[in-house]
Amino acid sequence: MRLIDTHCHIDLDAFDEDREDVIQRALDAGVSNMLVIGFEPVRWKAAESLAEQCSIIKVAAGLHPNSASQYSPELLESIAEQLQRPEVLAIGETGIDLYWDDAPLDVQQEAFRSQVALARDLGVPFIVHQRDAETEVLEVLESFGPPLNGVLHCFTGDWQYAQRILALGMHIGLGGAVTFKSRTDLHDAATRIPLDRMVLETDSPFMAPVPHRGKRNEPSYVRNVADRLAELRQESLEVIARGTTENAQQLFPGIDSERKL
Ligand SMILES: [Zn+2]
Repeated sequence: MRLIDTHCHIDLDAFDEDREDVIQRALDAGVSNMLVIGFEPVRWKAAESLAEQCSIIKVAAGLHPNSASQYSPELLESIAEQLQRPEVLAIGETGIDLYWDDAPLDVQQEAFRSQVALARDLGVPFIVHQRDAETEVLEVLESFGPPLNGVLHCFTGDWQYAQRILALGMHIGLGGAVTFKSRTDLHDAATRIPLDRMVLETDSPFMAPVPHRGKRNEPSYVRNVADRLAELRQESLEVIARGTTENAQQLFPGIDSERKL
């Protein structure tokens, strides 16, 4: 059985003390590959150097909505330059976050639109972050229209919202939130999303799934997400693992490349 963690931040200093152990535990839990999301320029380098050290790690480079005040046309160009590196597979994470609200909405929207447009021009997938901004995120995505080659990560919406995302041709990233007891809307969506449109993620060190909730999250816990999905969907763990791994391979070509970079 293989699992792919399509969204984690093990470049962050929360893992400085034991990063190698964390990677080993992931391998032991069946995690064959992971995508480390470099969410602003200083993180790109950190993520890329991890990928250089460890062949199961690949990278996304982008500008997080909470960092959107760093946005400029030059920055967009340097994202495009990162994409020329073989270990950098995607643009992200981008999107809109009105919970932290660290940058004005119009700045977040411009940074988001530009990164989606760049991903489309370069023919690479993109990763969307959404928090307290379901309407605003859909507005941008729907202005591009289908087919969009991307994933809405850390999905926390209901089935109605999932359908709008699926209609755009996008994938849906499911993580720790599906293990939280109170999220019945999300449970309902998670049982209805077609298996060929979902990918697994942890968002480590954030959003730890039950039974690790409230602690530091790590890629090995993607197994807890897969287990809960299997339970909710009344499918076997093997079916969930095979389906989501194939989707991750299709969405992020090269994610399982063993090639030494
Ligand atoms: Zn993230």
